[in-house]
Amino acid sequence: MKSAPFDYSKPKSVHQAIALLQQYGDDARILAGGQTLIATLNMRLSEPSLVIDISGLDELRGISLEGDFVRIGAMATHTEIEDSDLIKEFAPLLSTAAPYIAHRAIRNRGTWGGSIAYADPAAEWPTCLLALNGSVRLLGPNGERIIAGDDFFTGLYTTAIEPDEILISCDIPIAKSSHWYAFEELARRHGDYAIVGMAASANKEGDRLSQPRIVLLGVDTTPVRATKTEALLDGKRMTEEVIAQAEACLRTEIDPLPDLTNSPDTKRHLAAVLLKRILSSAQSKTENNCE
Ligand SMILES: Cc1cc2nc3c(=O)[nH]c(=O)nc-3n(C[C@H](O)[C@H](O)[C@H](O)COP(=O)(O)OP(=O)(O)OC[C@H]3O[C@@H](n4cnc5c(N)ncnc54)[C@H](O)[C@@H]3O)c2cc1C
Repeated sequence: MKSAPFDYSKPKSVHQAIALLQQYGDDARILAGGQTLIATLNMRLSEPSLVIDISGLDELRGISLEGDFVRIGAMATHTEIEDSDLIKEFAPLLSTAAPYIAHRAIRNRGTWGGSIAYADPAAEWPTCLLALNGSVRLLGPNGERIIAGDDFFTGLYTTAIEPDEILISCDIPIAKSSHWYAFEELARRHGDYAIVGMAASANKEGDRLSQPRIVLLGVDTTPVRATKTEALLDGKRMTEEVIAQAEACLRTEIDPLPDLTNSPDTKRHLAAVLLKRILSSAQSKTENNCE
C-alpha cells in the first residue's frame, strides 16, 4: 500500500517545528527515524496532513554528561547508544539492551526519541527508562517540561506528550559504583519484538540489593513496574529462597494481557523465568556491577 497524500516540512529549528505543531495540532506527525512512522503511513493507520521531518535538527542529537545525568538526545540512534562509550560507562543497562532492538539496519535509523514517544509496550527503551529512573524532557510553545519516566507512559501507544510538544531528550541518573543492572527478554527469533522482557537496576553490595526497580515489557499496554516484587527484594541478599519468594510474588502481582500466540499464563510463567535469571545474575559478586 501507499500512504495517503500529505505535506512535508523539514524545519531548521526545534522552535520552527513547534510552531508547525501548534498550527496543525493532531493533524501533524513528527518524522524521526521513520522506522515505525513510514510503515504506519503506508498502511494508512495514520493519515496526517503534514509530516514534520526533524532529522535535520542537530540540537536534538548527541549523548552527553550533564551533572549527575546522562542526557540522550531524541535523535540519538539506537546504534549510537549501543556503540557509545559514555553509555557503557554511565548507563550500561542500555548497552546491554540495545542489541535486542530489531536488527542493526533498523537500529542505524531508529531513534531513542522515536521509541520513547511511540511507547510500544513491547519496546526495550521505555522499559529501560523506567528501570533507570530516567526522566523525559519535552519542549512546547510554553517552554520546557520534565516528566518522570514513571508518569510518562499513560496507555497503549499513549504518553504525556501534548500535540504541540516535541520530546527533546531524556536524562538518566549516572550509574554509581554500586549500580547493578540486568536485561533479559524472550522472543521467537532474535530481532523480533519480545514476548516478554525485563529490565532491572538496583544498588548492590555483595549479593544484597537495595532500591530495586524491576520493569516488564510485553505484558500490558505500557511498561510495568513490579512494585510488590521490588519491595520484597529491597535490602535482601539474593539467596535461592529470596529468589523463589520473588518469583512467587511476581506471578501473583502481574496480570498479563495475551498476544496472538501467548496466553496470560504463558506470559506470567515467562516473566517468572526472566526474574529468576536476572536475580541469579546478582548472586555473582562482579557480573553486571559497576564496581
Ligand atoms: C522490522 C522492525 C522491527 C522492529 N523491532 C523493534 C524491537 O524489537 N524493539 C523496539 O523497541 N523497536 C523495534 N522497532 C521499532 C524501531 O525501534 C523504531 O525505530 C522506533 O520504534 C521508532 O523510532 P523512529 O526514530 O524510527 O521513529 P518514527 O518512526 O520516525 O516515529 C515514531 C513515532 O514517534 C513520534 N516521534 C518520533 N520522534 C519524536 C519526538 N522527538 N517527539 C515527539 N514525537 C516523536 C512520531 O511522530 C511517530 O508517531 C522495529 C522496527 C521495524 C521496522
